[in-house]
Amino acid sequence: MTISEEKTTRDAHLWTPQRKVEDLEWFRAKYAAERDRRLPNTGADTFKAVDFDGALAGFDADPWADGPRTAPAVTADLDMLIIGAGFMGLSAGIELKKIGVTNFKILDVAADFGGTWYWNRYPGVRCDVESYIYLPFLEETGYIPTERYVRGSEIFAYCRQLGERFGLYENALFQTRVTDMEWDETTARWTVRTDGGDVLRARFVSTQSGQFTRPQLPGIPGVETFRGHSFHTSRWDYAYTGGDITGNLEKLRDKRVAIIGTGATGVQAIPQLAEYAESLVVFQRTPTQIAPRENAPTDVEWFRSLPEGWGRTRRASFDKCAMDRATADCEVDDGWIKFAKYQLNAVYEAGGAEPTLDQYMDAMERSDYQWNEMLRDRVDAVVTDPAKAEKLKTYYRTMCKRPGFSDDFLPAFNKESVDIVDTTATPIDRITGTGIVVGDRAYEVDLIVYATGFQQGRTWTDKAGYDVAGCNGNLLSKKFAHGVSTYHGFLSGDFPNLFFLGFTQSTQVSNIANLIDHQAKHMVYMVGKCLAEGIRAIEPTPEAEAAWNRTISEHAEMRRDWNTTCTPGQYNNEGRLDDRRSTLVAGLHGPGYVYFDLLRTWREDDRFEGIAVTR
Ligand code: NAP
Repeated sequence: MTISEEKTTRDAHLWTPQRKVEDLEWFRAKYAAERDRRLPNTGADTFKAVDFDGALAGFDADPWADGPRTAPAVTADLDMLIIGAGFMGLSAGIELKKIGVTNFKILDVAADFGGTWYWNRYPGVRCDVESYIYLPFLEETGYIPTERYVRGSEIFAYCRQLGERFGLYENALFQTRVTDMEWDETTARWTVRTDGGDVLRARFVSTQSGQFTRPQLPGIPGVETFRGHSFHTSRWDYAYTGGDITGNLEKLRDKRVAIIGTGATGVQAIPQLAEYAESLVVFQRTPTQIAPRENAPTDVEWFRSLPEGWGRTRRASFDKCAMDRATADCEVDDGWIKFAKYQLNAVYEAGGAEPTLDQYMDAMERSDYQWNEMLRDRVDAVVTDPAKAEKLKTYYRTMCKRPGFSDDFLPAFNKESVDIVDTTATPIDRITGTGIVVGDRAYEVDLIVYATGFQQGRTWTDKAGYDVAGCNGNLLSKKFAHGVSTYHGFLSGDFPNLFFLGFTQSTQVSNIANLIDHQAKHMVYMVGKCLAEGIRAIEPTPEAEAAWNRTISEHAEMRRDWNTTCTPGQYNNEGRLDDRRSTLVAGLHGPGYVYFDLLRTWREDDRFEGIAVTR
């Protein structure tokens, strides 16, 4: 499709904002003022680095397991131990089996496969990336997602289906937490111990950055003093609320409810709470940008007509279109892509096919303001109370925070029983035995729901909950004290045969399932080669690791100006640009395919370049 044809398509989708973006300075000043309002509240320290014990133990307890682990302690010698049974663990297990490796275990704290989708069963939960590019192995399984954006329960069920189909339950060790791990130089094995008394010796171990694993509570005094009921969204208590993932929270009819947090989770849970609670107070710090959801049942005929290899092509196309605006050929036409196309059109209008850098930057900025103007107009059109509407409008560049997509979030605020409290300038002061205090106002409630996300901005080992003893007396807690250090995001010196996966110095993509797919394949290529060629140990050379760290630092610098102007959030490490502990801010800048191509070329070269190999 040509760019001008794209423009026509774009115009059909969107609408015209009332205000034309002419005065850039007005927008810059307004956005800067909103960011500054948020700055005094910022930093990872505003979150509790929770040790889930004492009064807080309940916040981490597993509501989904049928009781504690019953499996006897395992002692085993393995080719590989995979820590984490979410998409990554499933993908790694499936890829290992494809190359004939079966002597491995997949370990998880949860009682089943699913990772994020095991834990997050709050009402309204859905994936906000198109299910056709999000669910892994669709071509292999022939599974047809029921909707464009399926419910979390469908994703969880699909994870279980993958476990069954690929025989992974026989490799699983659930309800098990790693307690420590050490490298034995003489046998070239990791010894991993767990809280279940297991002793697992493994030639290779894969771990994950655990971006969204440990619930995060806000650093508000008094969380543990509340005498009503409270829980984190990833540990939803249906016994208290009634209902299930589809809603029907009937037991809330006579309950006064508060929810803290309006990120992607809050946006999905709030409409459900609003529908059933006697009253709902939403405590919002930074609003989320809300674009239309546009969900629909899957056109089964269309799905069945997709050509062989469609999955990978569609994912690549999404990645390219969402992150690299230099293409007009997009198979996925969702909210992410519509925004990308909107910007692409603006650039084209400003400078044709070959704009100057100034034209490009100007058009990108202008079109971003314009896009937000449209969405702010949409807030006004939907939310009838102007005071509430004002609080729900976003004033930051679109990709400063993860955009939201919802058709029922904004209308929820039209209920008289739903209030919204802006805690940007006046943060929540404290939580008392009976409610939440902001400034001189106390909100008495029966239930507090924490939609406050997952622990970020902590060291890798803090989040993992265990330390790793490598070669030369090196501890991972020491090596990663100020941020991860790897080669290509996978391997780290002094920690041989240990793979780091996820956002560890890799790349930032909107569809994490695509990253997982590439990383699982890449890791299994390395493991397969080592097993086939009798390689005992691999770790990066100091030079290769240092070079990758330099690349990552250079890429962080490229984002510095952007990150400085952004409102604090996950993507800019809450505004602390030089604190590199958060793995989310440490990846290659730019479209994911740059990283994926780099990995592919490295594999095709088949020389383990940059890796010290011990045979
Ligand atoms: P999140 O994005 O970290 O949002 C946490 C929310 O809590 C934010 O609104 C934050 O405000 C607020 N908050 C934290 N401390 C606060 C305090 N002291 N006072 C007031 N507000 C406070 O967490 P999440 O929404 O659970 O999402 C976690 C991750 O999962 C995100 O990456 C998200 O995109 C992803 N997710 C994806 C989907 C999907 O459909 N694919 C669904 C849900 C979640 P600030 O914004 O001001 O920090």
